[in-house]
Amino acid sequence: MIVCKFGGTSVASAEQIKKVASIVKANPERKIIAVSAPGKRSSDDIKVTDLLIDLANTALSGGDVETKIETVVKRYEAITEELGLDKTMSNIIANDLRERVSSNLSNRELFIDNIKASGEDNNAKLIAAYFNAAGMPAKYMSPKDGLIVNDLPERTFALPEAYENLRKLSEVEEIIVFPGFFGYTKAGILRTFDRGGSDITGSILASAVNADLYENFTDVDCVFSANPKVVNCPVEIKEITYREMRELSYAGFSVFHDEALMPVYKQGIPVNIKNTNNPSAPGTRIVPERTATGRPVTGISTDSGFSILYVSKYLMNREVGFGRRLLQIIEDENISYEHTPSGLDDISVIMRSNQLTSEIEDRIVKRVKEELSAENVYFRHDFSMIVIVGEGMRNNTGLAARAATAISQTGANIEMINQGSSEVSLVFGVRSQFETQILKALYNEFFSTITV
Ligand code: ASP
Repeated sequence: MIVCKFGGTSVASAEQIKKVASIVKANPERKIIAVSAPGKRSSDDIKVTDLLIDLANTALSGGDVETKIETVVKRYEAITEELGLDKTMSNIIANDLRERVSSNLSNRELFIDNIKASGEDNNAKLIAAYFNAAGMPAKYMSPKDGLIVNDLPERTFALPEAYENLRKLSEVEEIIVFPGFFGYTKAGILRTFDRGGSDITGSILASAVNADLYENFTDVDCVFSANPKVVNCPVEIKEITYREMRELSYAGFSVFHDEALMPVYKQGIPVNIKNTNNPSAPGTRIVPERTATGRPVTGISTDSGFSILYVSKYLMNREVGFGRRLLQIIEDENISYEHTPSGLDDISVIMRSNQLTSEIEDRIVKRVKEELSAENVYFRHDFSMIVIVGEGMRNNTGLAARAATAISQTGANIEMINQGSSEVSLVFGVRSQFETQILKALYNEFFSTITV
């Protein structure tokens, strides 16, 4: 059995949904389909999820929601009409959205999650109706029937019982069309995953039914070894391990959500990233182990938006519990950190800047100075992480030196180097202004002589 996920651009219009139907029809193994909300039809279009977030915020601030509801409803109407479905479906969608908008505003997060999730929920109903009309027996399935999640708004996680509950889907005769992006708590409260979270739903479903394959349909032929917007015609990745993909999607490879790897990884289910607009292209396979290609580096990713908390104190290395107490202060602000490179008398804590405000920074600096008697404590901003990834990097000497030389030739200073103990990744912290130049330089260093 194959579980498929179709992303936003794959289900953005009637034309795209027809392609989805023919892909599903082409292989009877494709039995469970997770779908996104309609995405962008062109580069200047707006995703339905973004329209819905705007609608929710307008409702919460007491603004005029009518035109915003209309805009969303019209998107679905255009699709249903072009697919030749009767008015019933667009009426169901319009009523559903209005009902959600008129629900209780007192719990802000619940309200936003509930409106946001309607994008996928209504699209799944619509697609199931179209499959049936096209002679493909299909069934819309609500996450209420088993996708149990924890109580975190906007970034929920599936609970172990979700997998148990969803196992029964493998017995359903019809093609199941399952909305991506959300689940329900045990108390029946709707919670959404992180943005791009339909990948996570597909992965949970694949794991629950122990699928032979999880096909993730998007709008590119494959995963590239570097951002094709920066590097001209980067090498296409045909096969990549879960670990490599995890490292690359952590820092900027947005093709596949990094949280989507865990469920399939645990079961060893291979993932195939494929293109809805070119389904015969083999795509990129994400597998537990891959055959060696002879090249040490598989991909290079970059991500901006990092801040560094710098802390120094003479004889820090002799002070038992210093690191723990420092990280406790960060935890008390509910901030997750990414790296903690350290020297004898200093330590830096690297975190995503979007978790910080000037008040939070002031509180952290004050507490670290007072409670840890640190000498120098300050934040620095506008850093990027450059991540070089490859299973072949293990036992390959001289790689860090090659990377550092390539970076130095751009004139950038390396502010931090971190090699994970798995040795499949090497992370460099640099000033964001150098990010693009560095990516090009590193790509040249590790890929320019390779022909695939
Ligand atoms: N529609 C949601 C988003 O735009 C989830 C997804 O498409 O995966 O983030």
